[in-house]
Amino acid sequence: MAALEPRVRPEVFRTWCRDLDFIQVDENVVHVPAPNAFYRDWLERDLRRPLEEAFLIAFGRVPELVFRVREDGGVDEPPLDETRHAEAPAPPRVPSPEAPTPIAPVPALARTADGSSLPLNPAYTFEVFVAGPTNRLAHAAALAVSETPGRDHNPLFIHGGVGLGKTHLLQAVCHATLARNPFARIIYLSCESFVNDYISAMQKKQFETFRARYRGADLLVIDDIHFLAGKDASQEEFFHTFNALHGAQRQIVLSSDSTPRDIKALSERLVSRFLSGCVARVDTPTFEMRVAILRRKAEVRGFELPADVAAFVASRITTNIRELDGAVNRITFYRSLTGRTLDLDLAQEALHDLSIAPSAVQVRPAQIVEAVSRYYGKKPDVVTGRTWSKSTSRARQVAMYLCKRLTPLSLTEIGATFGKDHSTVLYAIRRVEEMLASDPAIKAEVDALSRQLISG
Ligand code: ADP
Ligand code: MG
Repeated sequence: MAALEPRVRPEVFRTWCRDLDFIQVDENVVHVPAPNAFYRDWLERDLRRPLEEAFLIAFGRVPELVFRVREDGGVDEPPLDETRHAEAPAPPRVPSPEAPTPIAPVPALARTADGSSLPLNPAYTFEVFVAGPTNRLAHAAALAVSETPGRDHNPLFIHGGVGLGKTHLLQAVCHATLARNPFARIIYLSCESFVNDYISAMQKKQFETFRARYRGADLLVIDDIHFLAGKDASQEEFFHTFNALHGAQRQIVLSSDSTPRDIKALSERLVSRFLSGCVARVDTPTFEMRVAILRRKAEVRGFELPADVAAFVASRITTNIRELDGAVNRITFYRSLTGRTLDLDLAQEALHDLSIAPSAVQVRPAQIVEAVSRYYGKKPDVVTGRTWSKSTSRARQVAMYLCKRLTPLSLTEIGATFGKDHSTVLYAIRRVEEMLASDPAIKAEVDALSRQLISG
């Protein structure tokens, strides 16, 4: 829903989308039940596209959407054959509007040897994780605990801001542990689930079962442990769980949005337990890491992101890795919609309503003229002037072309910089486009210049 909301008009979202329900039939098919045929036809006509986009943004892929009339006005249970039931017990339901944000990825169920399932995202592995100066320690420690659990870094406490890879690292530890030992008893859950589990054990007076389960784990991984803040009874219970596991040299991995000390209303004895192992921070990635992450994410989706496109996106999205991921999704989607080649133009168009491009691209014509002059060894006033030689004219045309591509200016506005009218600018752009298509050397020049300008 969070991904759908920005894709439809607010009044449409309020009146039509709030009550939408999705039923996942299998990996590739999702049913969208409607109360009547009219509503179904409307959904199909007006909402298919935004929904597909929303699925892509939220889950990284687009399922086949089947719009159908809800049979009994109640919950639409699609017919499922028995074998499918056997493989996939309880078809996972995509969160419905009662739980508006955030949408959790459809979990692929990693299985332990005893058949119990872990809600792990299959993409959150060490292979896909890009290590660099801002997450090196957290990455190394996570690798170490999956190789030699319960030894040097216990607990491993990873903290940092939103979208910086904490959940990814926690799940990577689970994947790697499972790969090494399919019989490992892994408990992976959010702190919220832990608290809910505890509350329900309390209500049902099933403390023994609760304790036996948590204390039987070889690896206990709890995401967003700061959720314990102010929940005294849960803290108390977790303290005992922690001690039991730690004493038995079982590995504990935790994540949090701040250091143990900065978690408000956390008991002092838990703070000191958390500080007793390895505390590692994940920070906002450097430009080089962002480029590497983008390219890796694209690779995972089966395509190659050209260097200038990666540099462009990495220079615009600087703080949150989740948004980098979203950008790759949008570009993929846009490419499949238009069937065009994946290049800088396409990326700018795909991302244009994220207000990062092209209007927000802070490249000014003067910078372009300067970069082009330097590149071709000309004086700037020669590039913007009237003198004619083959090489000057090429530099001038490239400069105009880059103005069109990298600034939001109109042809007339671009022309003003060069003392030309809009038709001359248009001619220059066409000319460069022809040369780009036929001459790899020119393409390399223009790409190098765009990269240089975009990354400031
Ligand atoms: P957090 O839990 O810190 O809020 P997540 O682990 O959910 O963040 O990461 C958000 C997104 O960014 C995920 O898609 C994740 O795969 C991706 N991501 C984060 N850090 C990296 C990294 N170093 N390399 C590759 N992908 C990353
Ligand atoms: Mg997280």
